[in-house]
Parts: sequence; C-alpha cells; structure tokens
Amino acid sequence: MAHEVEMRALAEYLGQHNLKHTKQRELVLAAFLEARRHVSSEDLYQVVREKYPNVGYTTVYRTMKLLVEAGLATERHFDDGITRYEIEHEHHDHLVCIKCGKIQEFECRMIEESQREIAARYGFRILRHRHELYGHCTECSEIADRA
Ligand SMILES: [Zn+2]
Ligand SMILES: [Zn+2]
Repeated sequence: MAHEVEMRALAEYLGQHNLKHTKQRELVLAAFLEARRHVSSEDLYQVVREKYPNVGYTTVYRTMKLLVEAGLATERHFDDGITRYEIEHEHHDHLVCIKCGKIQEFECRMIEESQREIAARYGFRILRHRHELYGHCTECSEIADRA
C-alpha cells in the first residue's frame, strides 16, 4: 500500500479517538500526500473528485482538520484567508506573492537566531512563530516592469 506509514498513523489516530476509519479519509490523505505544498481543501477536493466523484467537499474539509489534529498536516493561514496545508518536515518561513499567489519557502539561520536573541532579551519564551513576507515574485515583477 502507498503511504503506509501515514496510513497507519491515521488509522491509529482514528482508533484512539473512536472515529470511523473510512476509505474516503484514506483517499483524502493520499491526495494530500501527493499534492503540491500549501494546498487548500478546495484544491484537494478538485483532485479527489476527478477520481472519486462520490467524495464530498465536507469530507475533504473535515478530513484535513483531522489530519492537522493527528499531526500529519500543518495548517497555514496567509493574508488571503484561505487555509492551506503542508507537511512540515522542518521549520521554514514563506514569501507570498500577492499577485499570482505563489508561495516560496525559505529558511534563514540568522533570522531564527535573531528571534531567539530578541526573545531572550525580553525574557520571552517562544512557542512558535510565523514569518511571512508579502510582495511580488520575479515573474510578476517582470510583468509589471514591462507594462
Ligand atoms: Zn507572482
Ligand atoms: Zn511551507
């Protein structure tokens, strides 16, 4: 079976919480694991629906919430109000293009360290952080320059 580790984790989570283990939930998980990063439940619904027309949007939406609770997906909220999902292997931050919606990930050790230093200076304990830069990506800047 594909995605054996994740499927087992989902089954375990459902079992622990007395939730029904359905084929539809497995389909949504598989679609999520195969999707590009920062995918919305609407995007996933479109993908799942092509192969399995009897899976409804609500099922996709609820399953994604479940995957977040189970620790299999991470929720992201950018400025446009759409909830997106990704698998967070390692901490990273984002550059978000407000024109085409492209999301670029980045990691910067200096930013991470500076954040820790600032927090220490104020005796603040960081639990999590979000660092998002909004602007225009290369393609969108080029289009604007040409116009
Ligand atoms: Zn762009
Ligand atoms: Zn990301």
